[in-house]
Amino acid sequence: MKLSPIVVFFLFVQFLSAQVQDKVDFVHANVSIEPTPSENRINGNVTYQFDVIEDVSSFYLDAVNLEFSSVFLDDAKIDYDYNGRKITIKKMMEKGDTHLLKLDYIGKPKQTVYFLGWDDGVRNNEQVWTQGQGKYTSHWLPSFDDMMEKVEFDLEIILKQDYTVIANGKLVKQDTLPDDNGYLWQFDMEEPMSSYLVGFAIGDFDKKDIQSSSGMPIELYYERKDSLKAEPTYRYTKHVFDFLENEIDVAYPWKNYKQVPVQDFLYAGMENTTCTIFSNQYVIDSTAFMDKNYVNVNAHEMAHHWFGDLVTETSSEHHWLHEGFATFYAYLAEKDIFGDDYFYWHLLETAKALQRFSGDDGGEALRNPNAGSLTFYEKGAWSLVMLRDKVGEEAFQRGVQNYLNKYAFKNVTIPNFMEELEKVSNTDLEDFEKLWLENPDFPYNQVISFLKEKNTSIKTYFELKNKIAKQPEKTETILKRAWKRLISNQLKENLVLDYGDKLSAAFLGTIIKSEDLKVRQAVILSQNKIPVELQTAVEGLLNDKSYTTIEAALYRLWTDFPQNRSKYLNETDGITGFPNKNIRLLWLTLALVTPEYNPDSKALYFDELSGYTGSEHHFETRLIAFQYLKSIGGFTDTVLKNLVESCSHHVWHFKKSAREILNAFLQSEGNTARIKGLYPLLSQQEKQYLEKTLGE
Ligand SMILES: [Zn+2]
Repeated sequence: MKLSPIVVFFLFVQFLSAQVQDKVDFVHANVSIEPTPSENRINGNVTYQFDVIEDVSSFYLDAVNLEFSSVFLDDAKIDYDYNGRKITIKKMMEKGDTHLLKLDYIGKPKQTVYFLGWDDGVRNNEQVWTQGQGKYTSHWLPSFDDMMEKVEFDLEIILKQDYTVIANGKLVKQDTLPDDNGYLWQFDMEEPMSSYLVGFAIGDFDKKDIQSSSGMPIELYYERKDSLKAEPTYRYTKHVFDFLENEIDVAYPWKNYKQVPVQDFLYAGMENTTCTIFSNQYVIDSTAFMDKNYVNVNAHEMAHHWFGDLVTETSSEHHWLHEGFATFYAYLAEKDIFGDDYFYWHLLETAKALQRFSGDDGGEALRNPNAGSLTFYEKGAWSLVMLRDKVGEEAFQRGVQNYLNKYAFKNVTIPNFMEELEKVSNTDLEDFEKLWLENPDFPYNQVISFLKEKNTSIKTYFELKNKIAKQPEKTETILKRAWKRLISNQLKENLVLDYGDKLSAAFLGTIIKSEDLKVRQAVILSQNKIPVELQTAVEGLLNDKSYTTIEAALYRLWTDFPQNRSKYLNETDGITGFPNKNIRLLWLTLALVTPEYNPDSKALYFDELSGYTGSEHHFETRLIAFQYLKSIGGFTDTVLKNLVESCSHHVWHFKKSAREILNAFLQSEGNTARIKGLYPLLSQQEKQYLEKTLGE
């Protein structure tokens, strides 16, 4: 899984240690489900084949809030206990036997399966998708919260409506349903996986088929309206796939690979086996590619198909084996595409973040099962960079290869990996484990020395920083003298970000005139106020091919040169920006608070801006719209209703932000009465939330 950059919270907290069920082994599952999206309902049945490993008198499956209509063991109806979390079957069974367990059930999952867009007036935005990690698949399929139970899950999905269905495995059948629109979609897996990796997605999708150099079919899905964005979104997919197969040197272990972007996804992406689901905020055009593209998440989820899907941690204590490895291999893939500078400068950035975290809170050990994402992902990747450097690329590659081959389709622990690496490298890695896996501190000085040694532009960066620290009054002289021999754009960009506010307008003007896009962008991001001498140069940035640059330039110019506001607004009218509509939302807000600008269109602008708070829009768009409307006092009844609705949203951090905005609103006198006036428009759930918030 890959978290969105804005989410930093602690996942994988183990409330209870998983119960181990080792006397029976579930081998195969035939799953058939029929979702009824208008009712958020799943009708399902599943037949498990299992082997009895030792004589046993009972066994169970995890199943959260499902309603069972019948349970059969080997064609005979059988009694069961169900407590809302686990279904337990009591039956004496002998070692060596094989049985079939068949369960029919109905579920109305409150999480894990998300039904979006079925009750608004917007056409073709209807979707159903799943998110099984943590251990949540049992909310719609009786299965196993324990990652150790690996099963070959074959899914069949019946949908009486004409949408595309994508799930784990290979599509082997798509039959027309007798009296309805829609199809029966049947998928086949050939190998086992843990339950949390079972997933599916439904929506109005089209796809592009490509193939890896090794001949693996890769399906790239997109919403029909986004056909022009498919190329920039999936740019380098084949490159990444080929790179990972070569670098890991173990063939991709599954039969195909599919990727599906969905609305309001909880994270950046999720590596459901052969069926990665990711946030549609990565569905971008070529301009957005410069600042925010899918390449890293694409590579991360793909790498999980070895690290996580093929070999799976026994428990969260070994989570490094998933996230550290996926993050690390994604960085290697990006290095192969974007070059050394890109790789090392990004590592420098994460090292700084880890240093801050380590300094503030004492850091976290990678072996800590409750560690946060920064530790598992970034410290995890760093530890592998250093481990590879220590044992050498050749030994590292062989060690990883042996580890994957030995534990393929099984579960693993950190000692399993370390053992393979020690074997091939003939090195005692105890010191490495102490420093990188057990120690909560981040060895910042060591990694900075490493970076300086590996990358000359980073070495130069620290040399210049030292010089400037000694003579801060000579910042510009030092940088100007060095500038001509600097080659790395990352270096220039970082120097401007660090010192841009101390440089003269003349020097900054030259930089805008002669440097690359990201260096020019650093100029506008580093300015708190644009000097008059720089005005013309910054006006030129409104035409740059970067949505980050345009947004920053528009805001600064509008603020610093009020006499030209209408001109700047005219120049940027019609630019949407990133998928979250960053530029359009800023533009509408500025247009509304510029009295002389198109006074007759103000009502239209306001309707458009407040319309973006509606549930048919992505939560990022909604959040920005709420914040702008708050800043201009634009909370109409419709906006407030949308805000209250957002307070129960399934995306945790959006819900939290919405609640904070609502609470701030309620602080002002009279606003409680306004909110109460909305009651007739609200759903039961929304009313309950409000009553709780208002303390009633
Ligand atoms: Zn991940």
